[in-house]
Amino acid sequence: MPIQPATAQPLDLAASPGHSASNAVARLSLHAVARLRATRLERSLKPFIARGSRKERCTGCRVMHSHCLCALRPSVPTTAGVCLIMCDIEPLKPSNTGWLIADMVADTAAFGWARTAVDPTLLEMLADPQWQPFVVFPGEYVEAAERVVTEVRPVAGKRPLFILLDATWSEARKMFRKSPYLDHLPVLSLQPEQLSNYRLRRSKRDDHLCTSEVAALCLELAGEPHAADTLSAYLDVFTNHYLNAKNSVKVDWEDAAHLRLRALGEPAATPD
Ligand SMILES: [Zn+2]
Repeated sequence: MPIQPATAQPLDLAASPGHSASNAVARLSLHAVARLRATRLERSLKPFIARGSRKERCTGCRVMHSHCLCALRPSVPTTAGVCLIMCDIEPLKPSNTGWLIADMVADTAAFGWARTAVDPTLLEMLADPQWQPFVVFPGEYVEAAERVVTEVRPVAGKRPLFILLDATWSEARKMFRKSPYLDHLPVLSLQPEQLSNYRLRRSKRDDHLCTSEVAALCLELAGEPHAADTLSAYLDVFTNHYLNAKNSVKVDWEDAAHLRLRALGEPAATPD
């Protein structure tokens, strides 16, 4: 079965009337992370909505309307799918980058994590024979060494499914330990040389990779470099818009990040 097909589910925008852009977004299909966010907001934040706080942000990209990047959402078909298991608060963060994965990878599913319960849809997906699931996690935390793999070997008739624990590091470790339904699956452990190559290419200084960067690395390992590069470039553009919005700086639509993303979206030149 396809994972979480992007069926149209209009978002209740009663809280932000009069925004034609928001209404246009509501008519679009919501992806898995957007649905999880909407559900999570409905569930517990209703009494706490600050006046005007939701009006400022575009519901399509979570950035302020003045810095909306919905028009830049990339579309790259991928063989691989992504399954995000998100810590409770994660879908609410406007800076969450699992959202960007769902923007681009059509087969992205997203589930909220709870210690005592598991969504049956998640279990169905893990058992679905079309998928070859990998839990992406550092190998040194895995007790059974035979579970750890460092590459994605194609299996006939199956598509790689990357399970990413979208949370802070300490939460992710807890999720990994306390999710017995993941215990039978291979663990894809990203290797230091893969990580340092990635950092080198991206001129990244810090050690921490965000969720969409991990997904980009996984796509690369799955032999989908164009999708990997596009997701990385999209993250740069998102970060650019997000920070500029925060600092009230206008977006430069012709800067290096935008040009790179645009170039990746152009059809490859056909050889003579
Ligand atoms: Zn937007």
